[in-house]
Amino acid sequence: MAIFDQEREQMERGELAQLQLERLQATLTRVYKNVKFYKKKFDGIGFLPDDCQSVEDLKQLPFTTRHDLAVSYPYEMFAVPLREVVRIHSSTGSPGAPIVLGYTARDLRTWAHLAARVLTAAGVDRDDVVQVTLSYGLLTGAFGFHPGAELLGASVSPTGTGATARQVKIMRDYHTTVLVSTPSYARVLTGEMEEQGVDPKSLHLKVALLAGEPWTEAQRREIEYALYVTALDYYGLSEALGPGVAGECKNRQGMHLNEDHFFPEVVDPQSGLPLPPGELGELVLTTLTREATPLVRFRTGDLCALVQERCPCGRTLARMSRIYGRTDDVIIVKGINIFPSRVGQILARIQGEEPADQLAVGREGHLDYLEVRIAVREGLFFDKMTRQRELLQQIAHKLAQGIGVTPRVKLVEPGSISREKETSPLVIDLRR
Ligand SMILES: [Zn+2]
Repeated sequence: MAIFDQEREQMERGELAQLQLERLQATLTRVYKNVKFYKKKFDGIGFLPDDCQSVEDLKQLPFTTRHDLAVSYPYEMFAVPLREVVRIHSSTGSPGAPIVLGYTARDLRTWAHLAARVLTAAGVDRDDVVQVTLSYGLLTGAFGFHPGAELLGASVSPTGTGATARQVKIMRDYHTTVLVSTPSYARVLTGEMEEQGVDPKSLHLKVALLAGEPWTEAQRREIEYALYVTALDYYGLSEALGPGVAGECKNRQGMHLNEDHFFPEVVDPQSGLPLPPGELGELVLTTLTREATPLVRFRTGDLCALVQERCPCGRTLARMSRIYGRTDDVIIVKGINIFPSRVGQILARIQGEEPADQLAVGREGHLDYLEVRIAVREGLFFDKMTRQRELLQQIAHKLAQGIGVTPRVKLVEPGSISREKETSPLVIDLRR
């Protein structure tokens, strides 16, 4: 399997740590000098950039949030004069306030390079035809992959979003081999092919790079089966750069995070304290090479876990799990963070596939309780009463092990939870 930047992507971890520290020191010096927001924050805790002698020192620094970026609208977070900025993108802050991000010429080169790493890990090379169905606009989606694919020497067809019938025609006529899309749009394309009577087998597709919304292993299998492709996950967010932050290799054991450009931490979403490797929490990123809009300890709001073991593909970069949801989705029961998507995952492991489920949180007296409602499906729960009781106990036990709270498990009418149409919320909080 090809690796785009062997020297960096297979770096010995000790060497990587040294490079990260050097780049971190440079970043902290730059933001302290050029961004008032950071000068004020650092001064507030009596921190000077020279105080950073190891990456551990980073943990003393306060977080940067989307709210911080939104109130700095439009250019307050820029660390370079506007004349050095060659591209401006935008993203949505909280709640709904825009965030503005700048790119110097060097930022754009770095971006293309990192996108090329992600594409190469997915098996893309110069012989490929890459159809980018993401938005070419203020958001970063399409603009990350486009130059990355060109840098590899692949042919890019920048179809952008929508016009699904035309997308299918282009896919067929141009011999598209790589689809860049959101998981939901990949399914829209599948539907359109069916309608047009286009057999996906007759196309040249081999890889689909999908992200932009949380998706599951079940959806992956579905898309792979429907489109005859290998579906791979990638991660990027406009605030940090755009697509190119991390991407899966064909081993699909997590997304390789470009740690020589982003220093990752995973923290408890409530306390903000760092979590041990492998634990699910909120991803926090510090940019290490970003020139125009560098970020220190940016809270992404995305839930994932990180592992550092070397991947069979040879890359030594840490791998991040798929995004299990947003911190806004986290519910607290008896002081414990519960990630609704984690519940779905555990149920899938017990049942083979993920049943429709819903969480209800309530309070009896002073005690919180969690109720997991699972839709009954034929062949899934219709069994003898005694066997069913056993199964419910088993589910409660497995959930307790996985989420740290023993839930009540309740079977509900089929169809009463319809995730497809998103008519019923994933979580009902009766305590409010
Ligand atoms: Zn790998």
